[in-house]
Amino acid sequence: MIIAVDGPAAAGKGTIARALAKHFGFHFLDTGSLYRMVGLSALRAGGEPISARAAVAAAASLNPLAYSDEELRNEQVGSAASIAAAIPEVRTALLDFQRAFARKEPGAVLDGRDIGTVVCPEAQAKLFITASPEVRARRRQMELGSSDYESVLADIRARDDRDSKRATAPLVAAKDAVVLDTSEMDIEAAVLAAIRAAEARWVH
Ligand code: C5P
Repeated sequence: MIIAVDGPAAAGKGTIARALAKHFGFHFLDTGSLYRMVGLSALRAGGEPISARAAVAAAASLNPLAYSDEELRNEQVGSAASIAAAIPEVRTALLDFQRAFARKEPGAVLDGRDIGTVVCPEAQAKLFITASPEVRARRRQMELGSSDYESVLADIRARDDRDSKRATAPLVAAKDAVVLDTSEMDIEAAVLAAIRAAEARWVH
């Protein structure tokens, strides 16, 4: 059983995907963290702007255990991740790991941008979690404890733009995905809606 959870930055997909994994007793993979590791590694290798060569090398020899969640969660790393993610060789290098994870028993929930379209097109349930850029910027601002709403919003828009316009595996809802707009929902309501949507897909 595979549940694919895709969507733009700060739409709530991480929280929802974790809750789905817990609810169904499945394994969970935050695939964005893989791209963040590549971005951070490339930043460390040569600073900004990151070099494609450093990013490809980092993706080819990635050790997910070598990074702490704390160092991956800032907007500089998020932005480096989205630049690295536009490089086709980086995406290819990360595919096997993600696909092997998806095959874990009794099931897996993967969250990202291209899980339902490229990594696991065969997923039994596909959810596309979205929210308006303004709502996502507010949420991200609270999460980061930042006082500068305008710059958080600008970062979100820049990342959306880069993620949706890239040639390889752009951010787009799979044709058979259930789209969940969480702009007006609190997290409990969004999780409940996601569980219902996944269950409805099992049965059909
Ligand atoms: O979800 P998160 O913000 O951690 O992802 C960081 C970046 O990694 C995204 O902006 C996106 O460019 C990239 N990404 C991707 N494909 C995925 C997951 C993340 O391109 N499956």
